[in-house]
Amino acid sequence: MVCLPQTGDDPGARVNRLGERIAKLIEAQGPLSIAQFMTIALHDPQDGYYATRDPIGAGGDFITAPEISQVFGEILGLWIVQAWRDQGRPSPARLVELGPGRGTLMGDVLHAGRLDPRFLESVDVILIEASARLRAAQARAFGAFGGLHIEWREHFDDSLTDRPLFLIANEFFDALPIRQFVRTERGWCERMITIGAQLELQFALFPRPSVLDIPHERGAAELGAVYEVSPAAEALVEQIASAIRANGGGALIVDYGYGADAEYGDTLQAVSQHEFANVLERPGAADLSTHVDFGALARAAERAKASALGPVGQGEFLCKLGVLERAAQLSQGNLKALQDDLERLIAPKKMGTLFKVLGIVPKNAAKPAGF
Ligand code: SAH
Repeated sequence: MVCLPQTGDDPGARVNRLGERIAKLIEAQGPLSIAQFMTIALHDPQDGYYATRDPIGAGGDFITAPEISQVFGEILGLWIVQAWRDQGRPSPARLVELGPGRGTLMGDVLHAGRLDPRFLESVDVILIEASARLRAAQARAFGAFGGLHIEWREHFDDSLTDRPLFLIANEFFDALPIRQFVRTERGWCERMITIGAQLELQFALFPRPSVLDIPHERGAAELGAVYEVSPAAEALVEQIASAIRANGGGALIVDYGYGADAEYGDTLQAVSQHEFANVLERPGAADLSTHVDFGALARAAERAKASALGPVGQGEFLCKLGVLERAAQLSQGNLKALQDDLERLIAPKKMGTLFKVLGIVPKNAAKPAGF
């Protein structure tokens, strides 16, 4: 066995501390699935990506829609308030956000919610956040909403499914772990992570084919084709959709990914300081994410007997809900000031098409705007 230097998180070092710990785990118990690797790299309590930093914004690794402009969160907020009104203003209800980051999106949703004070009186706000560090940032962001009941949880679970559920998630599902399967002459073999002679992390195929049932929508798969599936994402959407079917509510899931056009392909990517990075080289130091398969999420919602709406492009959704009018109002007629931000959110070449919105409402609910 090669002894690795005690590198800690020295940015110049070849292997970082978490990489070394993962290598030792693989040495002891065998290869990890990509899902296991992602979970450790993102959430290890000591060295995991989300546990050790605030990744969002110019000084971080990536920027998200709510950080670009307040109109994004306000429009999502208006949709949620309208869904609540359309369903007879249920009270008490819950307003849940998955992965609230800095708390900016929920702040803007609540701001829009002030248009109907009864909405704010009717909901408990629940923030689902794995990172203790981000929970603290969110608590600071909500100082301004003194009268509200705000609570944090690490997971979405069944204790949140016994009341009408209004839920938003932006750039949360792309961080959920996926498994990958590669088409070989023997069948579909799972892509795993193992170690090389120097204990460096590397990809390897599980030698025996998987019994996984690969859906047929993607057509014929050539040798080398990569099929991705997120059991965590599908199970979570099914749980949310079945709560919405049982007690009412509405969900908006916004992320980058495939619509009905999901392809075969490896979409696992690492991003550090706004640049692509190597997925395996410095686990915990770069964000890991993957294309969200919205078709699979829509089918999960339908399995739970709720209505899946869309997905539609983020640009189309925001425009249908009046983002241009809201921006004109904010800029008091001088739209130019907001133009760059708006363009980033809605232009097809920016976030307008790659980013998509999936809605979930009960089967008998009125069809909400935006889809
Ligand atoms: N929605 C925010 C932040 C996106 S970053 C925005 O749009 O700006 C992803 C967020 O999800 C972070 O807050 C991260 O800590 C959280 N997160 C990622 N995986 C999670 C998980 N499995 N459980 C709970 N929170 C998670």
